[in-house]
Amino acid sequence: DERMVLQIQITLYGDDERLLMARDITRLHRLEQMRRDFVANVSHELRTPLTVLAGYLETYADNADQLPPRLARSLAQMQGQTTRMQSLVNDLLLLSRLELEQSGDDHAPLDMSELLESVRHDAAALANGQQQISVEIDEQRPLLGSEQEIRSAVSNLAYNAVRYTPAGSQIVLRWKACGPGACIEVEDDGDGIDPEHVPRLTERFYRVDKGRSTATGGTGLGLAIVKHVLLRHDANLEIDTRPGQGALFRCVFPEGRLVSPRLNHDA
Ligand code: ADP
Repeated sequence: DERMVLQIQITLYGDDERLLMARDITRLHRLEQMRRDFVANVSHELRTPLTVLAGYLETYADNADQLPPRLARSLAQMQGQTTRMQSLVNDLLLLSRLELEQSGDDHAPLDMSELLESVRHDAAALANGQQQISVEIDEQRPLLGSEQEIRSAVSNLAYNAVRYTPAGSQIVLRWKACGPGACIEVEDDGDGIDPEHVPRLTERFYRVDKGRSTATGGTGLGLAIVKHVLLRHDANLEIDTRPGQGALFRCVFPEGRLVSPRLNHDA
């Protein structure tokens, strides 16, 4: 579009003086839009060839016992890397959709008990008995939001809790009142995160320990996705963690995002 984008800055001097500065950031804005479109297009275009590759590799892997062991090992490696690339491309595509598309069209009252229970189920499969995962519901009001987006945010937090905590850890998924609003909490009692890393955790591809994150199947985009989903729901992410003390990720939703119970249905 041909709109002009201005950045306005107002500085106060004493009681009655103001300095107003306007900067034309139209070009910057347009470049940013082009970057987003580009990432969205590239990730979309990469999906089909990756699906084809993964399909062939799976066929060969099914018959691995008929192959020379060295070839079978290389195939397994290729399959692993293809899956990794598919996760990356899917996360990149999801992230650019979150940035580009308008939100609100698919917002509906969400039964949080059902949603958290289903995320718990998937996370438990990933944990494979290594961690205990439970759900606590202390808030009855449904959340008004996109089921797909909220599910993806909570899944990312829950999968992280599984991937970055040692065996025997406890993980809790919670929906509870927070002031006048409500929040989703994902808490673990694992090793926690050094405070110096916390401010940067939601940046794309930021990892505390790159080697470990790659080995656990992370794309480095999980918390960036969480942040963008929350932005689209007027919510904030609070991260409370200390090394050795576990990690608490809290998504705080304002009161306006909660559906109040209707007292009289027949009126
Ligand atoms: P990744 O794909 O690497 O998991 P994320 O954006 O989801 O990317 O997470 C960023 C980093 O935050 C991770 O690499 C990990 O170091 C750290 N992290 C996230 N969740 C936890 C947690 N529950 N406990 C400890 N570290 C965590």
